[in-house]
Amino acid sequence: MHALKAVEAIKEDLIEFTQTIVKIPSLTGEEEKVAKVVLAKLQDFGVDETWIDEIGNVIGVLRGQDRGPDILLNGHLDVVPAGRLESWRYDPFGAEIDANGNIQGRGTADMKGGLSALVFAMKLIKDIRDRGVELPGDVIFSAVVFEEAAEMFGMEYLCKKSLPSKELSFDVCYLAEPTTGKVNLGHRGKVELVVETKGRTAHSSQPWRGINALEKMVPVLNQIFNKTGQELPVHPDLGQCSITVTNIVCKPGALSIVPDECEISVDRRYVPDETPDGIVAEFEEILEEISKADPEFEASVRVRTLLEKSYTGYMKEVQKHHPVWIVERNHPFVQKTCQALKRIGQQGDMGYFLGGVDGGMTAGLMGIPTIGYSGADENLAHTPEENIPIKTLVEDTEAYVSIICELFDIHNRKLLR
Ligand SMILES: [Zn+2]
Repeated sequence: MHALKAVEAIKEDLIEFTQTIVKIPSLTGEEEKVAKVVLAKLQDFGVDETWIDEIGNVIGVLRGQDRGPDILLNGHLDVVPAGRLESWRYDPFGAEIDANGNIQGRGTADMKGGLSALVFAMKLIKDIRDRGVELPGDVIFSAVVFEEAAEMFGMEYLCKKSLPSKELSFDVCYLAEPTTGKVNLGHRGKVELVVETKGRTAHSSQPWRGINALEKMVPVLNQIFNKTGQELPVHPDLGQCSITVTNIVCKPGALSIVPDECEISVDRRYVPDETPDGIVAEFEEILEEISKADPEFEASVRVRTLLEKSYTGYMKEVQKHHPVWIVERNHPFVQKTCQALKRIGQQGDMGYFLGGVDGGMTAGLMGIPTIGYSGADENLAHTPEENIPIKTLVEDTEAYVSIICELFDIHNRKLLR
């Protein structure tokens, strides 16, 4: 199946723009340069209102006729670090095109490819409107900061401050995250717990004089690995809940001194009938049980909070938490999305994210139907093999235009030729 002519016409510009933004290493908290490039492109395309908000998110709006639905297109500007350069065959920030027509580099799949496709979809929808077709609702483009940190720092600001300040709202949200072409409808919740044990320092030549906080952590670790981890619920769509330990720190952490503080980071994935408060309460019961058997045991548990600062200097205390979310498969927006993908020869199969994304905000906390979609390979995200085929870039752009037209009941395909 051939891409729509209108998409073919912008293909070279689309490739070049994707390469330009991949070449800017926009680690979390360092998104300023890429934000300005994305903003300039939206302005080039003549999008009605464009701005960078106080936290550093880029927003562009195509105004519709107030009948709705209003559509939020969302991506993130940040990428994870490249890791060890020796692992890369290509320069992670070189955006080279390989012999097979794939753009190589960090952020190509997650998600600068998808983000480019959204930018160009804005242009193509504007072109349709310029030809006299009314858009029943607004199309809002958004590229947020701080997605990879899993705290929804940028996304929360977008949804709670930036959009309401311009009296903008939305009925459905699309996330350009890599889904290997699936229509993704949710994920397990993800929360980072901090468990701390306390002890008493002593000279480590005489450890019996102190209380070793690391030793006090042993029954907690046993509980996580041998008991809690075996007993977690399974959700028919979102899968198995999980728990694991991702870090351990002892203080003071030096030779010759028994540590009096030990802290572990616990990654807990949860399903819809659980909450972070409930998970913390469960943990408190476990700690209570351990302390009954050991009067010296002193421990606490909480959700990790951090004071974050965006590149603009905006600061807020946030939790390491992506709330659980799931959208009904038979929701009309989901059905129309699948229909739109089938119209352009794609499968339109449904799926779910394994990791957490900013849909935790829109669907999880706000209850607004949210759909993840991009043809980029989800298994390449965060790896040294990360790439996006040019073919996928073109198909993504076509898909977003097709989806928006379907939601707006614009079926005159001549408009796109
Ligand atoms: Zn992502």
